[in-house]
Amino acid sequence: MAARPLHGRNAFPHDLTGEIAEWMNARIAQAPLGRTMTPADMAPLLEGTFTADGLGAHAAWERFVQRVAPNNVALDSERFLAFIPVSPSAAGVWMEAAVGAATFSAESWLEASGAVAAENQTLRWLADLMGLPASAGGCFMSGGSIGNLSALAVAREQCAPEQCAVAVSDTAHASVFNSLRLLGLHDTLVVATGPDGRFTGEALAAALSDRADVGIVIGAGGSTNAGVVDDLAGLADVAHRIGAWLHVDAAYGGAALLLPERRHLFDGIERADSVIVDPHKWLFAPEGSCALLYREPALAAAVHTQHGPYVDILHDGEPLWNPSDYGYQLTRRATGLPLWFALAVHGTVAHEVAVRVGVELAELAAGTLDAVPGVSVVMPPMLGVVLFRREGWGRVEWRAWAERLLADGVAFVAPSTWKGEPVGRLVFMHPRTPPSVIDEIAASLRG
Ligand SMILES: *Cc1c(COP(=O)(O)O)cnc(C)c1O
Repeated sequence: MAARPLHGRNAFPHDLTGEIAEWMNARIAQAPLGRTMTPADMAPLLEGTFTADGLGAHAAWERFVQRVAPNNVALDSERFLAFIPVSPSAAGVWMEAAVGAATFSAESWLEASGAVAAENQTLRWLADLMGLPASAGGCFMSGGSIGNLSALAVAREQCAPEQCAVAVSDTAHASVFNSLRLLGLHDTLVVATGPDGRFTGEALAAALSDRADVGIVIGAGGSTNAGVVDDLAGLADVAHRIGAWLHVDAAYGGAALLLPERRHLFDGIERADSVIVDPHKWLFAPEGSCALLYREPALAAAVHTQHGPYVDILHDGEPLWNPSDYGYQLTRRATGLPLWFALAVHGTVAHEVAVRVGVELAELAAGTLDAVPGVSVVMPPMLGVVLFRREGWGRVEWRAWAERLLADGVAFVAPSTWKGEPVGRLVFMHPRTPPSVIDEIAASLRG
């Protein structure tokens, strides 16, 4: 049998593309909560996938639909309340598909002026929300971890050798600590936060005492575990006084900049030297998107621009904006386009309204859970995360609770710890999460 060609108009059956679009539409309408299999369960399902002649498009697609897709827990489910969910907008998903179909190669202006200009328009919108100056700019990356790493690589380059210690709080995201390790920034001043989990300028100043070696300060615009926004203005005051770079990790919480009633929590973010926000978290973009902004992008270009005979042409002639100059990634998808498209389709207000739902659900959940005998919230939620204790429950009970909620199809939840104590944790993000889920969860906590 002649091998079927990979490319061209007839490489893929046209009737199947309609079926795939239908599958996507169904998924966008409502994602099933899903399930997790064991490795032993998965192995036989995938046996025989690769053959010399191929299974053909219909059989291969069926394999995906029946064996791969269902055996995942859906971050985009309305009932996914664990970790940090991903709740992509319909417009975002369709643009993501279009970006996949069109290889824009959005590392450079030369190849992708349209995509890069649209991404930069989106970055500017974010920079304006933060109050960053007109000079600010950067790029979209694949996620917050690589965004933090890229920003901190630039921060490190600005440090004098005798002033390269890093002040960071004990609530910083794991990727921050991994980035520091990868960058060889081993001298860290880890500041312990108090009962409210907030890293303040006062705590930083006290921890510094008379240390003069700190050159980088890292704050969070919404901690992952508790959704606490640090005292960014206080951190900026101290950072400026000691001549340190201020990096703000707003991967999760940055979306709340859209809410006039929460905007004050972020005061001081306009003084950051670098900031990240993940559109794939609370800005409803599909997975794989982090916005990375610098106050002075030229400092980043000096660190991240790649040089070689095959790419030097990107930097010939008049200066053009090349996203690959601002983060550690060369070939790149235009991961800012799904947010750009959703903003174009729906406008900013629809985004504001959708973000607000998460905050309101978290407030409702905090009130409802706190009223359950034996249950108490750790702190009033600042954003969309609720942490709560239940008398007599340790790790084992919380784990069993999470398994029960998934088995019953109520929700996917993941317990956490707070200051070493095992606690329950819920994260609200999906605007279509029914408030009745909160009652079902409250019921699961009754004795
Ligand atoms: C999720 C998160 C990250 C990591 O982002 P990824 O996109 O998962 O790589 C970093 N910082 C904070 C505060 C986060 O919530």
